[in-house]
Amino acid sequence: MLLNCGQQLPLLRHTDVPPRVIENFILTGYRFPNYSLRDCLLSAFRPTNETGNFWTHFLPVFVFSYYFVEVFGWEGAPHGDAAFFYPLWNYYIGVFCLLMASSMAHLLNSMSLVVREVCFFVDYGTISAYTVGSSLAYYYYIHPQAGVVETRGNNGPHIDLKHDCVGASRSLYAIPELSVFFETFYIPCACVVAIICVLSCCNTRQRWRRHRYVIRTLVFLLPFLVSSTPVFYRLLTRSPYSSPSSSFAASTSMPTYFYRHCLWLLVSGIFNISKFPERLAPGRFDIWGHSHQWFHCCTFLSILDELQMIKAEVRAILLSPTLLLPPATLSHLPGPTIASTYGVMLLLQTTIISIIVWFSWRANCIYGPQRGQLAKEPPKKHLKCN
Ligand SMILES: [Zn+2]
Repeated sequence: MLLNCGQQLPLLRHTDVPPRVIENFILTGYRFPNYSLRDCLLSAFRPTNETGNFWTHFLPVFVFSYYFVEVFGWEGAPHGDAAFFYPLWNYYIGVFCLLMASSMAHLLNSMSLVVREVCFFVDYGTISAYTVGSSLAYYYYIHPQAGVVETRGNNGPHIDLKHDCVGASRSLYAIPELSVFFETFYIPCACVVAIICVLSCCNTRQRWRRHRYVIRTLVFLLPFLVSSTPVFYRLLTRSPYSSPSSSFAASTSMPTYFYRHCLWLLVSGIFNISKFPERLAPGRFDIWGHSHQWFHCCTFLSILDELQMIKAEVRAILLSPTLLLPPATLSHLPGPTIASTYGVMLLLQTTIISIIVWFSWRANCIYGPQRGQLAKEPPKKHLKCN
C-alpha cells in the first residue's frame, strides 16, 4: 500500500485515526485530521484515500463547462446574458457549486473534525441547490410551454407570445389538472424538498449514523422525483412541437438522455449504498477504485446526460423562434426574470447557508473540544506508517 513514510505527514491506518474519520472497508491511506490548509491542498497530489474523490469531481468542472458553453455559439442563440438563458445559467451555477464543493470537501476535510463536518454540510447544501437549478431549467425549457401561450393557426398548433390567453394556455396540457401544479407549485415544491434534503442529510452526520448511506441516497430520490415531473409529463404526453418541424427533430433525443441520466443515478446510488468493490476486498481499493470514486463518476455522467437533455430542449426552442421566452408580463406564464431564477436561487442558498451555520455550530460544540487534544498530543501510533 502506498504510504509515504518519507514525507512529513505520513498516511495512517484506520486504527490510527479518530473513529469519526473511518470509512467502511477502507483500511489505509488516511490523513490525520490536523492538517493545515497548505497540507490539504498539497495532498491533492499525494495518493491518499481522498485523492481520487477530489479529482473525480474537480476535473469534471472543466468538462462540464466545455459542453455547457457550446449553447451560446448556436445559430439563433440570443446573447449569453439574455433573459432566455437565466435558467441555464442557474443550472450551471448549481452544477458548478456542487462539483467544486464536493471536491473541496474531500480535499479540506482533514483540517479538523469540525471542518470535516462543515465540508460535508456544504456538500449536501450544494447538491440540494443543484436540484433546484435543474428544476429551473426543466421549468423553462422542458415544462410544457412555460412562458408562452398557444393559439391555433391553420397549420396546427403554433405559439403567439402577444396574447394573454389563459384558456389557450391551459388547453396545452394533456392533463389540465397538472397546470396548477406546474404553474404554481412546481418551483416552490422543488425548493421545499431541497431544504428537507439538507436538513435530513446534515442530521445523518449527527444521528441516524448506522443507516446514513441509505438515508442520504433515499433522501435525494425525492428531489429527483419532484424535479423531473416536467420530464415525466413530456414523456407521457405529446411533444409540444409539430412533428415535421426541426424543433421536433431536435427534441427527439431528450428521452434517451433522460433514461441514461436515470441509469447513471441508479448506478451511483448502488455504489453509494453497497460500498462495492471495497466490501469484497477490504484494503485493496483504499487509494484508487473504491466505491465513492465510482459514485462520483456516475453522478457526473448523470449530470452530463442531464445537460445534453436540457441542451436538446434549448435547441428545439431556438429552432422555433416564436417560442423564445421573454421576460414579458403579457403572457399567462411569464418567461424567466431575474427574480424568478437568480432570485429563487439566492433565497434558497440563503436558507441553506443558515441551516449549514446551525449544524456547524452544533458540530463545533460536539467536536470543538477534541480539536486541542488532537493537536496537542497526537498519540505515538498516529505517526507510524502502517
Ligand atoms: Zn463525495
